[in-house]
Amino acid sequence: MYDRILVSTEQLKNTVTVLAEQINETYRNDDNLIAIVILEGAKYFAQDLLSEINVPVKLEYLKASSYYGSTCSTGDVKLEGPDELKAAIRGKQLLIIDDIYDTGLTLTRVLNWCKECKAESIKTCVLLEKEIHHQKQINIDFLGLKIEEAFVIGYGLDFEGRYRELPFVAVLKE
Ligand code: IMP
Repeated sequence: MYDRILVSTEQLKNTVTVLAEQINETYRNDDNLIAIVILEGAKYFAQDLLSEINVPVKLEYLKASSYYGSTCSTGDVKLEGPDELKAAIRGKQLLIIDDIYDTGLTLTRVLNWCKECKAESIKTCVLLEKEIHHQKQINIDFLGLKIEEAFVIGYGLDFEGRYRELPFVAVLKE
């Protein structure tokens, strides 16, 4: 199933704590924050992160899919659920929570959509960034860890819908 563990459970826990501290500091005087969790991959990360957030935050979800069971992006990113969200987002401060920055196509699509919705501000919080040449360059405001180029599983990240439940991030066995 996996070759080796890349990010241990303890490293994940520490990373989440550091990110939560940064977010708490950034939004400490605000009460207009909406966290948008990108499904499915960011669910586990977001749950741990939000349990350490001590500023008022409304939680929303956006389903984005582009992988369709393979280990590389099809480039065609589909978003589900945006229509109901649009009105809620206008004039708010958005914090996009995602699992991994790979090609950047998903985050670009999500960010463009959020901009169209006229949010007051948009920031991104991403657990992992692959150290590759991204197809789309994105400024990540709160970044957890950089990792090598590999297809990883665990802590919400899946391969064909499996292995999300692993309590660490590991490299998928070929
Ligand atoms: P993108 O290539 O930056 O658009 O990444 C889009 C999505 O693909 C991420 O949010 C993940 O859900 C998924 N993804 C990218 N790389 C990996 C990986 O190494 N393992 C599992 N899922 C991945």
